[in-house]
Amino acid sequence: MFSRTFLPSEKQEVAFANISDGGIFTIIQFTYHTNSQMYGILKKTASKCSHISQTYSIGRSVEGKDLLAIEFSDNPGQHDLLEPEIKLIGNMHGNEVLGRQLLIYLAQYLCSEYLLGNERIQTVINTTRIHILPSMNPDGYEIAASEGHEYNGWTSGRANAQNLDLNRNFPDLTSIFYNRRRFRHFRSDHIPIPESYWLNKVVAPETYAVMKWIRSFPFVISASLHGGELVISYPFDLSRHPQEDRMYSPTPDEQIFRQLARTYADAHATMSNNDTERCGASFANKGGITNGAQWYSFAGGMSDFNYLHSNCYEITVELGCDKFPSEMELYPEWLRNKEALLSLMEFVSSCFYWVLLGANHKLQQAGLLFLLFISSNFFKLIFTELHRTLASIIEAQMKSRKISKILKTLTLISLIQYLYFCRVSAN
Ligand SMILES: [Zn+2]
Repeated sequence: MFSRTFLPSEKQEVAFANISDGGIFTIIQFTYHTNSQMYGILKKTASKCSHISQTYSIGRSVEGKDLLAIEFSDNPGQHDLLEPEIKLIGNMHGNEVLGRQLLIYLAQYLCSEYLLGNERIQTVINTTRIHILPSMNPDGYEIAASEGHEYNGWTSGRANAQNLDLNRNFPDLTSIFYNRRRFRHFRSDHIPIPESYWLNKVVAPETYAVMKWIRSFPFVISASLHGGELVISYPFDLSRHPQEDRMYSPTPDEQIFRQLARTYADAHATMSNNDTERCGASFANKGGITNGAQWYSFAGGMSDFNYLHSNCYEITVELGCDKFPSEMELYPEWLRNKEALLSLMEFVSSCFYWVLLGANHKLQQAGLLFLLFISSNFFKLIFTELHRTLASIIEAQMKSRKISKILKTLTLISLIQYLYFCRVSAN
């Protein structure tokens, strides 16, 4: 069968060798890539894996550069009922470059391994729709890259070409949430963007593109890859007390966020180690995860927006102290993060139902999921149309809030079942 040859790491590449038909030969170059090289690799990868992949643009940067995403799914270009969607974003801060490279390698890796018959990768791609945006800030990257690893300072290239910090540029829905939480029936999802945001703020095209993206796909899990620390931070990023800028400020879904953060930190080679040398703040005694506002508070972040405007759980992955590591570090960093990235993708499929259940604490939703679960497992292959019809009937019922007692009973059973399932799969 297939075997793999890892060339010495100083060569900065991995070859997938001994492929008899000669068509699946991939070399991942563990070097930095310019914007045009990145576009080339993503497009080439998608064409090589065209049955499971495609590229698409979510918009353009200030200087007109493409914000190019690549998607992996058994049905690229379409949302399958019940198939969770996940997104991975790199390089939001243009000078935090490791995440961008890791995501380029990840795209190449997913394609190659799928073709090589790696069952784990095939399962992930067949059960999840994965969207990868390696660079959210290609303009900023260009500035940082022109200085290079040796000379890039702490902030050069961080902002976009309008000098806007993209992770402060999203609508601040968290303040709205804090103001409303004392009212009955307040919601922690699908909070609309207030008019004042459009009137008072310069909205970066990169921010706008990502907001549109979030609204266009039913993402459930997301990770934004940054640099400068070694920790996973999760919402809320804005402190619940205006005068306290280091205050623990959990969302109503604290448990889900913690589990998601742990999934990455525990699978990372060093993030959860308590003997790891840290960059300044110490997260070692917390297992390498932290609530965002407890670390430092800020408004207008992307993660809080994802959570409050849609139903997507986004964590911020701080990949390491060095925002612009030397090229020699890229391959070792890939090895440190590969398992964590894969675990994150697997988390979404094993705990998808649980995630949704936890999201809203609604019996109705659990009941719906239970029925969808049954229909998907027993009928999907044979009665796809029936399945879709059933789903739309239940959805209509949900909208009109006519939920029967039977549905509520099923709900409780499914709740227990999924919690159990999730606990088992987490062990
Ligand atoms: Zn950052």
